[in-house]
Amino acid sequence: MSKPFLSALELHQQIQAGERSAVEVLDETFSTIEKLDGQIQAFNALTKDIAYATANQVDQKVKAGETLPLLAGVPLALKDNIHMEGVKTTCSSKILQDYVAPFNATVTNHLNRHLIPIVGKTNMDEFAMGSSTENSAFNKTKNPWDVARVPGGSSGGSAAAVASGQTLISLGSDTGGSVRQPASLCGIVGLKPTYGLVSRYGLVAFASSLDQISPFAMNVSDLAALFQVIASPDTMDSTSIQDPPQVDYMAELNKPVEGLKIGYIAELLDAGLQPEVKAAIEKAIQTYRDMGAMVEAVSLPNIKYAIASYYIIATAEASSNLARYDGVRYGLREMDDKDIYQMYLATRAKGFGNEVKRRIMLGTFSLSSGYYDAYYGKAQKVRQLIRNDFSKAFSQFDFLIGPTSPTTAFKIGEKSSDPVQMYLSDIATIPVNLAGIPAISIPCGFDNQHLPIGLQLFGPHLSEAGLLRTAYAFETQTGLKNLRPEALATV
Ligand code: GLN
Repeated sequence: MSKPFLSALELHQQIQAGERSAVEVLDETFSTIEKLDGQIQAFNALTKDIAYATANQVDQKVKAGETLPLLAGVPLALKDNIHMEGVKTTCSSKILQDYVAPFNATVTNHLNRHLIPIVGKTNMDEFAMGSSTENSAFNKTKNPWDVARVPGGSSGGSAAAVASGQTLISLGSDTGGSVRQPASLCGIVGLKPTYGLVSRYGLVAFASSLDQISPFAMNVSDLAALFQVIASPDTMDSTSIQDPPQVDYMAELNKPVEGLKIGYIAELLDAGLQPEVKAAIEKAIQTYRDMGAMVEAVSLPNIKYAIASYYIIATAEASSNLARYDGVRYGLREMDDKDIYQMYLATRAKGFGNEVKRRIMLGTFSLSSGYYDAYYGKAQKVRQLIRNDFSKAFSQFDFLIGPTSPTTAFKIGEKSSDPVQMYLSDIATIPVNLAGIPAISIPCGFDNQHLPIGLQLFGPHLSEAGLLRTAYAFETQTGLKNLRPEALATV
């Protein structure tokens, strides 16, 4: 028999009311992890002592009759590229296998301030490069809906932790889709915020002009609450928006969508979608019409160049960001007794996996003298064209919709030998990072193997409140929230 589903906000209320202690909740969380994670392999490491210290603080505050901060006591899983002081940040790479973070990321400070117990660090594609979590140097995380399939990536561990009920909320990072795509493949919700709304301080850099720390949850209300906790200006991140509008993301969820103008991106409906994905998106379009929104096709002619432009810009930035892993200052060092050149070579050859090496080489090539204008310069121009496409679309429509991923979860090993096939699975998510706009993935149905399908909603810069409300209306209308695979319904 399945237990009634408790959302993160409801759990938090029970803790505040003294109906359950935060320590008891944590005991249950760790026993669920013990039961499930041998199979799912969402976690690289658990941080029990730190989590219990936070939970104890929550319980003391409740005893003292104090009002708790938002989401206090609700256990959370953190992607292993976000720093927690004194805990390893491995980025699922051999080169950082034993690297201990010397400081907290700004988001970690926000979680601590809110007394949200961090239960562990989650598996990912090495340095967040991938769409399946198969590029981890450690484990292959499984999709809770079918353990023969990938959870998506690169934040596959954080997505699988939530989808399997090990935690109700988690954080990942999204550079080209790494939160929205695993949310889609795992049947949960994920939001990539406007670039600059969430601090990147203490997030290990992959492609700095695209990276954003991004939340996962089981439903839109919990997601809005977690986003409220982490979104804030930060002087430690020079790209942080220093004076964002003051918005209560949870207060606006109930506003109706009647009268909204929504554009569905014609190119993404033609992007070789799995037929059931296309059908589910078409049904979602109808759902919005039924709710009183006006939905029409819109063309973004340049998004077909997004993948090509992204794989130049992201690899160029990665080749420069990853130059710091040279065996001298961070992590692994090989052949310490040889000259420095041999030490560099041996360290990087052993420390980086194939995909990371491929990207460093691609990026170094496109930045090299003689090729810079032809590749990097041109990719930047294409990026501007894509931004212009979105601006034009948002002058006619409030929000846009389309698929998150062209397919549902694929089999482990199915695409791992063909990098281009893997890159193509990001066609619908990458344009968002190039434009710096926010987008959310929410469940919108299942394929005929009962694998979840994700709907993506896109908004103009800083439109998160409206985007969350548009998602919330769909979730309320369809009841597609808090989805959990049958086999895991009792945990
Ligand atoms: N799948 C994309 C890539 O491999 C996006 C990764 C991400 O968002 N971190 O680069």
